[in-house]
Amino acid sequence: MAHSLRELDYAILQQCMHCGMCLPTCPTYDTTKRERNSPRGRIALMRGIADGELEVGEEFSREMSYCLGCLACQTACPAGVDYAQLFETARADIEEHGIQDSPARNLWRTLTLRTLFMRPGLLRLTGRLLHGYQKTGADKTARRWGLVGLLPETLRRLEPQAPRICAKFSDELIAIDESPAEPVRHRVALLTGCVQDLAFSGINRDTVDVLLANGCAVHTPRSQPCCGSLHAHNGEPGMAASLARRMIDLIPPDQFDAIITNAGGCGSHLKKYHALLKDDPRYAARALAWDQKVKDIHEWLVAIGPRTPKASPFEDDTAVTYHESCHLTHGQKVVAQPRVLLKLIPGLHYLELPEASWCCGSAGIYNITQPEQSALLLERKLKHIGNTGAVIVATANPGCHLQLVNGLSAAGVKVTVEHPVTLLARAYRRESSLSTGHS
Ligand code: SF4
Ligand code: SF4
Repeated sequence: MAHSLRELDYAILQQCMHCGMCLPTCPTYDTTKRERNSPRGRIALMRGIADGELEVGEEFSREMSYCLGCLACQTACPAGVDYAQLFETARADIEEHGIQDSPARNLWRTLTLRTLFMRPGLLRLTGRLLHGYQKTGADKTARRWGLVGLLPETLRRLEPQAPRICAKFSDELIAIDESPAEPVRHRVALLTGCVQDLAFSGINRDTVDVLLANGCAVHTPRSQPCCGSLHAHNGEPGMAASLARRMIDLIPPDQFDAIITNAGGCGSHLKKYHALLKDDPRYAARALAWDQKVKDIHEWLVAIGPRTPKASPFEDDTAVTYHESCHLTHGQKVVAQPRVLLKLIPGLHYLELPEASWCCGSAGIYNITQPEQSALLLERKLKHIGNTGAVIVATANPGCHLQLVNGLSAAGVKVTVEHPVTLLARAYRRESSLSTGHS
């Protein structure tokens, strides 16, 4: 993958024909109505850099930090502009030029991207420490005593939005190999993710249960590394490539019918390993095979024909709406399948969410780096959720999940957030408890 706009295949930049059809779909353009904050404006800046007419400087860096990377423009574009690649290359170029370097930022990136998210054991150990910190109430004490105010600014902003860390991670909830009671129809591997594993390991358990209920034998390797999406989105393509190699070694694609992911943001990146490794003769062919095997859980279930649960997971009919993760919708084009699965659940009354595909403002760490714009988007999303009258909002990405949980709780709104697969898993469990008489 190109590390700078000047190295990038110029044809990708030339694809933009300046039609402006992407403008109404862009949340930052919608806020400011300024051309430079639009996809077309950003591509023009990138082209200026590739042509040697502009420098990679602070203004460009600010512009690319303001972009959510939501890829709504990519869906709207009739010319098929690969904005994801442009965005990641621009971010990598900014890092190469050290535009945003500062001692605090460099330390933070070294601790997170270059250390924690490169070492799965260390990440889980940190998760365990954080769980203890939260469970003993030390977090509340630190807040009461004003100790949080002593943290560096980034950590201070992160602290109130930090997820509750699970008591058990996926390795403790899921056996390495699990088989369905019925004959095996498919053999799949499960990717457990980083944030998903630490904050939502129950969703990984639910994913396995749903796969088992649909005739899939599930292999879940231990100590999975980060998929590299955080690195690719934050200007570290070299580290993203190294993580992709480790992932392919851990889960050889030729041994499975599918490699399952349940996190929209990770899935969008996991399907593009070939773009990262195409110049690596040892991995290029395997990366191509890998890309073809990676499936989002909703996409996979609908492709194999999901079994309708025979029982409702709810006591009464329950109104549920669905917020689309940008990277599931625009990155992977998985739009109808989560709705198909939700509508299979007995007792679930599905309500369509207006502007379901409009970004909620989470966008990786955007809610920390661009808190004002993130808050605007969250407010807009919460208003729509409230207007539906739903008591559950389903979503399939840990970033969106956290953003909605934090937003709903701050607004005092009694709507819970669930992954679609969790609701489906509960229905299958209810079905099996009714059939065995253990309700
Ligand atoms: S990725 Fe999203 S915020 Fe960025 S230009 Fe495209 S639509 Fe606008
Ligand atoms: S829709 Fe596509 S071709 Fe048209 S301005 Fe936007 S990026 Fe360029």
